[in-house]
Amino acid sequence: MREHDYRLVLPHLTFVLAKEFGFCYGVDGAVQIAYETCRRFPDKRKFITTEIIHNPRVNLKLREMGVEFLSGQYSTGKTLADISAEDVVILPAFGARLPELEALTEKGCILVDTTCASVMNVWKRVEQYAREKPRPSSTASTSTRRPRRPARVVAYPGAHHLVVLDKAQTQIVCDYIRNGGDRRDFLATFRHAHSPGFDPDLHLSRLGVANQTTMLSSESQAIAVMLQQALVDRYGPAEGAARFRNFDTICSATQERQDAMLRLAEEKPDLILVLGGYNSSNTNHLAEMAHQHAPTFHICEPACIRSRDEIHHKPVGGKEAVVSRDWFPQGPVKIGLTAGASTPDRVVEDAIVRLARLCGIEAIPLPDSDASISA
Ligand code: SF4
Repeated sequence: MREHDYRLVLPHLTFVLAKEFGFCYGVDGAVQIAYETCRRFPDKRKFITTEIIHNPRVNLKLREMGVEFLSGQYSTGKTLADISAEDVVILPAFGARLPELEALTEKGCILVDTTCASVMNVWKRVEQYAREKPRPSSTASTSTRRPRRPARVVAYPGAHHLVVLDKAQTQIVCDYIRNGGDRRDFLATFRHAHSPGFDPDLHLSRLGVANQTTMLSSESQAIAVMLQQALVDRYGPAEGAARFRNFDTICSATQERQDAMLRLAEEKPDLILVLGGYNSSNTNHLAEMAHQHAPTFHICEPACIRSRDEIHHKPVGGKEAVVSRDWFPQGPVKIGLTAGASTPDRVVEDAIVRLARLCGIEAIPLPDSDASISA
């Protein structure tokens, strides 16, 4: 399909692939390093702190290769307390939490760090800002979940962080910057989302904004503009601008997949399938974008497509997966397809084959060849 303008035309069924989808450089590198670690240390106990990437096939394969998970749904019950200096511990693509890293370093075990360079870049930018800026100052992080290492800024005296999840939470921060407010209410709203000792009366006067690398680009930009405007309203144009810094840390892979999603929408598909883990931030954001253009189904595996009548999927904005009926349109259907950064190409291929089979297509002809894939 890549060689044929990312499309596959079958009787009454057309697939159009996003021009950037699936495995990103960070995930690809992490998975290769993890497999290589298993080969290099056949006689050692091997652990990983949590999912290497948000894909069940890859995590289950690692488990089959003898890697034990210290947390998450693949956990075998072992914890950090079980690790000895003889063991090998892999850190996943999205990084490890700082306390975990410190505990593992202290144990002296062999650490294999697969953290993506773009994730490290966020930490570096935030740390540099925390080092340089006059006090008091804060870093506001945007995140769909609790980020792994915002606490690194507290290594610098007087530097703090606050995590906002979306524009609604950002508005609360902006209101406080402009007008002040009830300090206790503010801290209660953001409990578990700020550094120890954070005081909104002191630490919102100077801000740097860093994004989780996989955030929705448009939303992250809007959040930065909102915060900068609040500082300008409070301190005036020159002073307000000087008190603000935006790091724009969305990674290039996320940006490319989001741009490709918009181009896919221009094809006006009858529906869009988004493949990827339900807990994958970048996949959820792709589904959010797709949903604005066509009926969208975010599935984690091809098997979620149960029949032309029934699909198991996570609705956009929902927390749990649900089963929907009558999801597949009648007549000739154009299906847009994309996949999050943790999804192997094979999963996308399997979804195409499964859908073709459900539409009664027995064999998918391979272009420029007499061969076909049996559906
Ligand atoms: S989505 Fe971006 S930050 Fe995350 S692993 Fe891939 S390249 Fe790295």
